[in-house]
Amino acid sequence: KAKAEGRGVYHYYTDELTDSARQRIECETRLRRAILNQEFEVYYQPQVHIQTGRIVGAEALIRWNSPVKGLVSPAEFIPIAEEIGLIGEIGEWVLNETCRQGKIWLDMGHRLTLAVNVSAHQVRHQNVPHMVEEALKKSGYPADRLELELTESALMQREEETVEMLHSLRAHGIRLAIDDFGTGYSSLSYLKRFPIDVLKIDKSFVDDIPYERDDMAIVSAIIAMGQALGFQVLAEGTERIEQIDFLREKGCTMYQGYFKSQPLRATEFEKLLH
Ligand code: C2E
Ligand code: MG
Ligand code: MG
Ligand code: MG
Repeated sequence: KAKAEGRGVYHYYTDELTDSARQRIECETRLRRAILNQEFEVYYQPQVHIQTGRIVGAEALIRWNSPVKGLVSPAEFIPIAEEIGLIGEIGEWVLNETCRQGKIWLDMGHRLTLAVNVSAHQVRHQNVPHMVEEALKKSGYPADRLELELTESALMQREEETVEMLHSLRAHGIRLAIDDFGTGYSSLSYLKRFPIDVLKIDKSFVDDIPYERDDMAIVSAIIAMGQALGFQVLAEGTERIEQIDFLREKGCTMYQGYFKSQPLRATEFEKLLH
């Protein structure tokens, strides 16, 4: 049985399909349409310099305003987009949109670093340096104000080529951050092979500061190691003042979290800058 959903879009249902498989197919169809209908929006979450309290940058985080499901979390649809190969297109859109917005803020006099997430699938299947070059050219946004966030698992894809790719991005002035640092399965040796600027300590290590001694030891060690290797260190998911006091004392460079602000739409983020 085929059910028409708008022009030229069909869902084929069979009895073998489980409910979850059916939901998955529906989600895929909606995701493809979301690109065409421009249902995505980039939110920005401030990154704060821990010594001065100044907003020095923001992470670009995608949101999906689905006409069917309302506001959908990226944690829900990014994994699906990766599986069905749509993450390339979506990631390119986020990058272009962030550079476009970044140029506007720069022209207003706001000197920010904007960070964009790049998924493992993009590293494997996309020409990321070319995509970045095009986005910068189109927008006029400067390379040294753009940061790419990659997880450890993204870096472990075709390692030799990835090292080369990152060096070429770095040579163009683009900054590189390791996202969710400490949660991957990789060895620490990659820290000296990749040209890294920022370590982003995963929220899970930050959550129970200052109550969990083990987490505090891990965070202190990451900060000390980052400093010794010449990286900046950013703590993710900081919600309370005690966490920030601890991080500052340990020499952390920046924080990002609800304590300062949740991710905001561009217009709201702009108000925060003033
Ligand atoms: P991430 O890159 O690690 O982003 C940080 C996530 O932590 C964001 O969730 C942010 O809203 C959340 N967060 C930040 N501070 C706090 C806090 O103080 N408390 C709590 N409870 N949460 C906090 P979000 O926006 O839902 O994004 C989830 C993940 O989805 C991201 O994790 C990233 O892996 C992925 N993602 C988001 N946008 C994109 C994108 O444009 N491309 C790709 N490839 N992935 C994206
Ligand atoms: Mg990130
Ligand atoms: Mg993260
Ligand atoms: Mg995460």
